[in-house]
Amino acid sequence: MKAAVYQGQGRVVLDERPRPTPRDDEVLVKVFAASICGTDLKVLRGGHFRVGPNETRVLGHELAGEIVEVGKHVAHWKTGQRVSVVPNIGCGHCEMCRKGLNNMCPDYDAFGISIDGGFQQYMIVTAEAIYGGNLIEIPASMSFEEASLVEPLSCCVNAWKDLAVTPEDRVLVLGTGPIAGLFLQLAKAYGARQVIVVGRRAERLAEIAPLGATDLVDSSKVDVVDEVMRLTGNRGVDVALTCAPAPELQSQGLACLARLGRMNFFSGLNKGTRVDLDSNKVHYWGLKLLGSTGSSVSDYARALQLVETGKIKVSEVVTHRFGMNDAVAAFDHALSGKGMKTIIYPQEDSLR
Ligand SMILES: [Zn+2]
Ligand SMILES: [Zn+2]
Repeated sequence: MKAAVYQGQGRVVLDERPRPTPRDDEVLVKVFAASICGTDLKVLRGGHFRVGPNETRVLGHELAGEIVEVGKHVAHWKTGQRVSVVPNIGCGHCEMCRKGLNNMCPDYDAFGISIDGGFQQYMIVTAEAIYGGNLIEIPASMSFEEASLVEPLSCCVNAWKDLAVTPEDRVLVLGTGPIAGLFLQLAKAYGARQVIVVGRRAERLAEIAPLGATDLVDSSKVDVVDEVMRLTGNRGVDVALTCAPAPELQSQGLACLARLGRMNFFSGLNKGTRVDLDSNKVHYWGLKLLGSTGSSVSDYARALQLVETGKIKVSEVVTHRFGMNDAVAAFDHALSGKGMKTIIYPQEDSLR
């Protein structure tokens, strides 16, 4: 089978390897769609503490496929079932895991990080993942591509639930990538009265606008805070979300918040980067500054519902699709920052 293998900083190659054989407590999934995430690109650019210097890894934690082999000790799961996975597998016994927060476990394993993920034709689902509830059956009506995108949506759902958005709210989305696109759709689905998007490239703003923006702010042309204040009648926004790893977006989001505003610092910054915080504004204006990372199995279930019922159309953030022979080109494309979401179809030779 073919696999796109990460071989250390900046290097991913298309490799031919034997199809893996599941152990008695594992299942084998034939991967039909795997989506490239900002996290994959971050690992590719800068490595990851869970991938040792002499290790290789098949990246990819946003994937869907079909079960083709089932170990003899595995109950419930059968060949032919269409599935996706919740990537972060908790240890099962820490304080976070006991609360059902597998994404907050300090001793986690994850597909595409510490174990091989979706950028290959066949993937093992480990016993820990099966018993952790991380293997998820997908509805017959859902395409593999849509199912692969439930994962990034589940991370957005995790961030969204504490922001308590109502139809009275004005929402500010800072960034124009696929995560920003999913937040726009969430804001629209929850009926937010105004949804402002900030980006620094006109073509990206034009691409993302139809997903639910009421106003666009081109940060290469105007001062973001002035423009957001103008667009909100000098009131500011109730909710802000940062969706790109740029420190200035965090400062701008905070500066744009209205009284009782809520903000999620969704996109992490490069290690060691700090942002000045106007703590008096947080105090006197009663702000709620929140963070979130990854998703729990229950966030995933909620995201799956939003896709199944058509409330969120995840495929609308996909701009490029590649076959397996073009997997390396797919990474190069995603790294170039062009377009929104890039998907690899591991069972197709080529889609270009
Ligand atoms: Zn991801
Ligand atoms: Zn744990």
